[in-house]
Amino acid sequence: MTNSYSPISSRIRAEIQAALSPGAVVTDPAELRKYCNDASKLCFSPEMVVCAQSVADVQAVMKLAQRHRFPVTPRGSGSGLAGGCLADQGGLVLSTERLREITLIDPVNGILKAQSGAISQEVKDAAASVGLYYPPDPAGMDLSTIGGNAATDAGGPACVKYGTTRDYILGLEAVLADGQLLETGVQTRKGVVGYDLTNLLIGSEGTLGIITSLWLRLIPRPPAITGMMAVFSDMQSAMRSVTRIMAGGHLPCAIEFLDHRCLSLVGEMLPFGLPGTTPSLLILELDGPGAQIAEEKERINELMEAEGVVALVNAANEQEREEIWAIRRQVSLRIHDYANLYDPEDVAVPLSTIATLVDQLSAYEAEYGVEIFAFGHAGDGNIHLSVTAQDGDRRNQVTAAVKALLAHSLELGGTISGEHGIGLAKRQYLPMEIAPASVALQEEIKALFDPNKILNPGKVFPPAGPTEEEL
Ligand SMILES: Cc1cc2nc3c(=O)[nH]c(=O)nc-3n(C[C@H](O)[C@H](O)[C@H](O)COP(=O)(O)OP(=O)(O)OC[C@H]3O[C@@H](n4cnc5c(N)ncnc54)[C@H](O)[C@@H]3O)c2cc1C
Repeated sequence: MTNSYSPISSRIRAEIQAALSPGAVVTDPAELRKYCNDASKLCFSPEMVVCAQSVADVQAVMKLAQRHRFPVTPRGSGSGLAGGCLADQGGLVLSTERLREITLIDPVNGILKAQSGAISQEVKDAAASVGLYYPPDPAGMDLSTIGGNAATDAGGPACVKYGTTRDYILGLEAVLADGQLLETGVQTRKGVVGYDLTNLLIGSEGTLGIITSLWLRLIPRPPAITGMMAVFSDMQSAMRSVTRIMAGGHLPCAIEFLDHRCLSLVGEMLPFGLPGTTPSLLILELDGPGAQIAEEKERINELMEAEGVVALVNAANEQEREEIWAIRRQVSLRIHDYANLYDPEDVAVPLSTIATLVDQLSAYEAEYGVEIFAFGHAGDGNIHLSVTAQDGDRRNQVTAAVKALLAHSLELGGTISGEHGIGLAKRQYLPMEIAPASVALQEEIKALFDPNKILNPGKVFPPAGPTEEEL
């Protein structure tokens, strides 16, 4: 897997500039800085940044990259948490953020076509404007692009009931490594013709093609929604409540949780005092016909009372619902700002094992001398474990704690990433979960799409050499 890439010389740079729409090459130094980061704490400077103004610009960049052998890193809005949109091998960052048109909303057939740079919240709003619903709701959706969501198969709180981005993509258009435009999938509710290239590109983190447009499936809007917060004196009883609710045949459209460390960062936003030293919070939402969710809420409250819920706070109106979500949204931002060292992990484990996992977090903290903030999507077992340290010299301890937590999650029957993807930050851990034969097959697929390894090189696959024992 050794690559020799060409630097982007002034001659190549001029050739790229001449091939693109006016203004596509970013030259303002202040603006250029933002393309060195994403929402991880990693930082790499690209040699050149292009904000494509058209699909033809994307194709032109890839044709020149193929000819001159420079790497191209696709980027949406850079809200990723795994360093996937960073140019760690130099070359060109290709942003789709200006390709943000919603080109079709068809309420009769329940489909919407958007360019990949459309902001995810705008897609949701566009669906709502015709009375329909686009369910995926990753917490950063007011920042992220719909193409970035597709490339990472983003999920969010509503995933527990409605699934991830993948479940709403019918087809897509993508520019391949040689500049060809590929169209995949269908614009119908069903379609089984040929291999499913749509689903191969979804979640491929920009390593197989640059997505330029997406056909999305919309569904009817739920007639009513209700939200509440449930306060517990410890996380175990909160997690046991989650298992009881799900095993009891209920399907809320969100069950999020925050542990005591997260609550300590958002304390001033809470409209109540917290019990004990390790309080925990569940945020629950139910949607559907009004009478049905009112009845279901009562039964869920009974289940939580059996687990010792200390307080229940109902959102009386839309504004109070929004205030609850504001608390949830603040958490990852505040952890990011709080710690010098910060590894945002997002394991997912079977629901029956969540309580076991969270029960052991304090032992990991003691063993590795780190602070672990636990929050996330309890309803689908997707636990965000932010492993942090204030002291910048504790990198080795943070890494060792992360590795141990990932190994433990796998032992529980889980996965090392429920939604953030592998990118750069977690590529060394991929062999912990995926067998060598599967990694080798995936590398062959990558080579078929991108024989010269110019498209987002160094992402997803482990760096050459490491064995599972070395990890
Ligand atoms: C506060 C906060 C909360 C978050 N909450 C969630 C959450 O609840 N659920 C969740 O899943 N994620 C969450 N994320 C992570 C992030 O928002 C998602 O991964 C999102 O899908 C990234 O979209 P983006 O446009 O920012 O992509 P980027 O960060 O720009 O890129 C992410 C990856 O996708 C590739 N990519 C981007 N655009 C394209 C394209 N058009 N074609 C091909 N490849 C492309 C990049 O190369 C990179 O590998 C959160 C992030 C933040 C900062």
